[in-house]
This record gives sequence, structure tokens and C-alpha cells, in this order.
Amino acid sequence: MKNVVLLGSTGSIGTSTIKVVEDLPDRLRLVGLAAGGNAELLLEQARRFEPEAISIASEEKAAELAGLFGTHPQVLHGDEGLLRLATLPSADIVLIAIVGTAGLQPALAAIRAGKDIAVASKEILVMAGEIVMEEARRCGVRVLAVDSEHSAIFQCLDGRDPATVRNLWLTASGGPFRKTPKEEFPDITVERALKHPSWVMGRKITIDSATLFNKGLEMIEARWLFDVGMDRVRVVVHPQSVIHSMVEFVDGSLIAQLSTPDMCLPIQYALTYPDRAPSARVQTDLAKIGQLTFEEPDPERFPAIELARRAGEQGGTLPAVFNAANEAAVDAFCGGQIDFPGITATVRRVMDVHRRVEHPTLEQILEADAWARSAAVG
Ligand code: NDP
Repeated sequence: MKNVVLLGSTGSIGTSTIKVVEDLPDRLRLVGLAAGGNAELLLEQARRFEPEAISIASEEKAAELAGLFGTHPQVLHGDEGLLRLATLPSADIVLIAIVGTAGLQPALAAIRAGKDIAVASKEILVMAGEIVMEEARRCGVRVLAVDSEHSAIFQCLDGRDPATVRNLWLTASGGPFRKTPKEEFPDITVERALKHPSWVMGRKITIDSATLFNKGLEMIEARWLFDVGMDRVRVVVHPQSVIHSMVEFVDGSLIAQLSTPDMCLPIQYALTYPDRAPSARVQTDLAKIGQLTFEEPDPERFPAIELARRAGEQGGTLPAVFNAANEAAVDAFCGGQIDFPGITATVRRVMDVHRRVEHPTLEQILEADAWARSAAVG
């Protein structure tokens, strides 16, 4: 039995994680749950799973929930609540699925408390990959990938030395605008960008999938998770989203992981690792799928890939700036302040003027993050 703390239980990854826990009651137990604003769903989840502690962003909502529960579960709030949950003595693994940067400090706290972490929130490794991986090594804990692409690579690598890797191949669906001519990009509405062809996900990551910034963030994550240089992190467009990613080894052999797209699979693998637990949830009928196709990503229409490569290669505070400028630009796009190509233009502009700090401290990373957000909207 593994005791799981789930940060971001009310989101897209969070609710898929809940399904996985329901599927495996003899293996997984939820001991902590955290949400941002959705008190209603958190309440329902807490009643169903009876965790030791829950946390919600606002103090007022926490007080309301505490009024409903009495002494059990313990009701926490804010950043401190996330830190307390991440270090809960009974927890074996902490799954972090909070959108934005709020998951970074809890991730480090969990590592320092000796917990394995399962990472969905991309910001954690993109912003502070060097620090997080170094702390995990020092504390002897695992950093497990929840993202389907990184889970695929993890499964294909199966513990082999990074020196045996010629290339990591991240697959990209190409998003809803894979075939849209560049001239039409300024007319893309938020509503259209939110319609993803193969995955149902949270709002921010869906827009990132349309710009391919999501793939860019994943490239930087992969570089840290698997300890390879950015020059060995490659992207190929694969519209069927059946191959979740591949490893090309030095002898030329390519190993891929395939399944119909369903986030429950990588979540389950991260939570049960090193075991493979039986599940009937994912069934893949290759004959029905019929074709698996591949294309080069178009750098003209999707410059996010090259911007990510630059951020990852130069490193330091630049990946944090890449991430924060994109987050601010996505907000501006959703708020109608900039058009779709404006997202990339904003990130490029902010990256161009950033004064990079090499091997930054966490404080310098957070400073760069704040600077990039204000520079993006300024
Ligand atoms: P959602 O927007 O669906 O969910 C975000 C979650 O974060 C919600 O539970 C939200 O709570 C919670 N949250 C936000 N702010 C806080 C806070 N300050 N304190 C506590 N909880 C907070 O996002 P997704 O589930 O799609 O994505 C989560 C992360 O996982 C992102 O970083 C994304 O990039 C990554 N990811 C997502 C994938 C997917 O398929 N969705 C795939 C791979 C990675 P509430 O709803 O209560 O406000």
C-alpha cells in the first residue's frame, strides 16, 4: 500500500489520479488532498477518501471546510498548507499537479522530507530542474514523470545509462492548428485554441499545445529528468498521439511506448512504480487505429520549439523566463489583449532582453520568474 498526497486534486490530472486510486484500492491510499479554489469538489473528495489532511488556497474557504469537518481531516490553507501536505509523515509519494509555480516549493519540501515525487506540473523542472534533480539525488528519492511523453521515455529507457541514448524523441500531436496556414494565425480565437484534437486537459496546457509551447516545456523537462543535453532532445509530430515518445539508442534501435491516449496510464505507472498494476481502463486496438504517421514540426509556424531549445541550451534563469513569459502571454491571449502569434512574439521579446544568471539559486529563479511576468505585459 502506498500513501499518496495529491496536490491539485480538483484539476484535470487531479481527477484522473482520483480514478486511478479508485481503480487500485489495495495499492493506493490518499492521505492528503489540496485544491486551489474548488471547495465543493475538494469537500466531496475528502468525504469519499477520508484523507488525514486537506488544503485549499484561501483561509476563508479553509475555515468553512473546517466548520463542516470538525477534527478530521485537518484543514490547512495557502502555501503553508501545501508545504505541510508535501511533508506529511505518512506520505510515501507526493503527486504535484498544480498549474503554475505554486508546486515548486512543495516539490522541494517533499524531496527534503524523503518522499518520492510524481511531477505533472511542468514548471517545477523547467524552472528549477538543476536544483530539483540535485536535491533528489542528495536525498535519495525518485522524481517520477506523470506527463505521458516523459513516462513513455522513462519506460523505454528502463534504467539504462544516458550515455546509451542517441536521441530522445518527444512526440507532439501538432495541436489543432497543425495544418492551419500562418496567414490565418492572427484570426485564431481562444475558443478554437481550446479545442485539442486528442487530449482533454486544463486550459493553460491546451493553449500551450496549440502553440507547441507545451512541447517546448517538455523538451526542457526531459533534459533534466533523463540527464541528456538539449541537442539530444528531439521532437516529431505524430497526430494520432498513440506513440507517446521514443528513445533512439546509440546502436540505432528505437524503442517506443504506445497506447490510446489516457492520462490514467502514466499516472498509474508513476504511482505504482516499479510495479505494473493490472488495469482494464486502457485498451489499444492498433488495427482500428490503422496508421501511425510522422512529420517534422514547422519552425516557421511553431517557433516555440526553437525558443525552448535556446532556453534549455543556455540554461540558468532563461528557462524560468521562457516559462513565465509564456504563462503571462497565454493569460493576455485569453483576456483578448494579444492575438495568437502575439504569444510567441511576447516570449521571444522577453527572452531577448533577459540578463541570464548561470546556476541560479531558487531565489534568483523566482526573481527571474517575477521579472519575466511583468516584462511580458509591460
Ligand atoms: P487544471 O487547470 O485542470 O488543474 C489545476 C489544479 O491546480 C486544480 O486542482 C487547481 O485547483 C489547482 N491549483 C491551482 N492553484 C493552486 C494553489 N495555489 N494551491 C493549490 N492548488 C492549486 O490543470 P491540469 O490538471 O491540466 O494541469 C496541472 C499541471 O499538470 C500543469 O502544470 C500541466 O502542465 C501539467 N500536465 C497536465 C496534463 C494534462 O493532461 N492535463 C498532462 C501533463 C502535464 P482548483 O481547480 O480547485 O482551483
